[in-house]
Amino acid sequence: MNLELSEEQAAVRRLARDFVEREIAPNVVAWDRAEEVDRSLVKKLGEVGFLGLTVDEEYGGSGGDHLAYCLVTEELGRGDSSVRGIVSVSLGLVAKTIAAWGDEEQKRRWLPGLTSGEYVGCFGLTEPGTGSDAGNLATRAVRDGDDYVINGTKMFITNGTWADVVLLFARSTDAPGHKGVSAFLVPTDTPGLTRRTIHGKLGLRGQATAELVLEDVRVPASAMLAPEGKGFSVAMSALAKGRMSVAAGCVGIAQAALDAAVRYAGEREQFGKTIAHHQLVQELISDIAVDVDAARLLTWRVADLVDRGQPFAVESSKAKLFASEAAVRAANNALQVFGGYGYIDEYPAGKLLRDARVMTLYEGTSQIQKLVIGRALTGVSAF
Ligand code: FAD
Repeated sequence: MNLELSEEQAAVRRLARDFVEREIAPNVVAWDRAEEVDRSLVKKLGEVGFLGLTVDEEYGGSGGDHLAYCLVTEELGRGDSSVRGIVSVSLGLVAKTIAAWGDEEQKRRWLPGLTSGEYVGCFGLTEPGTGSDAGNLATRAVRDGDDYVINGTKMFITNGTWADVVLLFARSTDAPGHKGVSAFLVPTDTPGLTRRTIHGKLGLRGQATAELVLEDVRVPASAMLAPEGKGFSVAMSALAKGRMSVAAGCVGIAQAALDAAVRYAGEREQFGKTIAHHQLVQELISDIAVDVDAARLLTWRVADLVDRGQPFAVESSKAKLFASEAAVRAANNALQVFGGYGYIDEYPAGKLLRDARVMTLYEGTSQIQKLVIGRALTGVSAF
């Protein structure tokens, strides 16, 4: 297995590093405190091509392979997980899913705007009553002539109040369980759709996370993405790649924790020498370093499988499970290296830990990833 990056991949990573240094790093603390990333950043992400990675140029995409996508995602996660998540959802869960499942009209209607950053997309699966058991969702889409009329509530939707389009999952037939679920592309300015920003999040504070309420929202039948009853397959295929993207973002968090811990350990003096001289501090740092490498290799393996057209969903769950837990450990270890200074937001470790924590919860909790992996190994579904 060749672990060298190609010239193109290395160039994309350099581009992402420069972008983070210039456009993100100076603002991270302010955005976190204000609970809002500067919205104008989305256009800049589009201009540099990061919102179109892996999408065909014909639809405004910037091409590239999934390893390049992971490299950019890692660098954005290293800079600010709130920004990383905006891209992972608008590109990863929405644009890439439209590219994979949409008809020609849907691709032409949405992809150029999403890949340029003119539009933002959000992914509406979770509801107040169904999180892990997403296939049991209650939102209903009822056929009325040439339209569907949708009623229901979606919870914790990343980009929710910013989005121009929601990839929405709703029950459109009486088939049992997830077999009755269909996917719809719903413009967020459709009458009957209201949004409420959810404040007070532990981390990812710069992201617009929202509750969406749909009351008699009417969309044409042409808004359905993929055949009726295929909605759950659409959601699961989106999340399988989405988990790779979350894992890459977690590698970025862990790398940022490592960089910060090494730097600080070389500067801070206690007992007459820099704390880098103390063996137990080196233990904290080496534990972070091993987590970074292991998480990165698991993530790159998924990207490699995707690019070679091989099955990747279980490996993606493994990468997401490990990388998210590793990011929490790494950020927590870095905070320990910073001592009391790690506990205030003028130093990076606290935010890294707060941002990392949700990665073990969304796009399938750690428990759900274990059930996916366990089902693949035993042939028994324990959901
Ligand atoms: P529950 O499903 O109620 O789980 C509670 C606990 O029970 C967890 O520990 C879980 O692991 C455990 N559990 C549940 N079932 C089992 C089982 N069978 N076996 C063992 N343990 C089990 N959703 C979207 O659709 N779109 C988004 O953009 C989005 N963004 C999010 C952003 C943030 C910041 C957050 C916090 C959430 C977001 N979510 C989004 C929702 C997220 O995916 C859900 O929160 C997650 O799937 C868990 O669902 P839940 O919160 O309802 O927890």
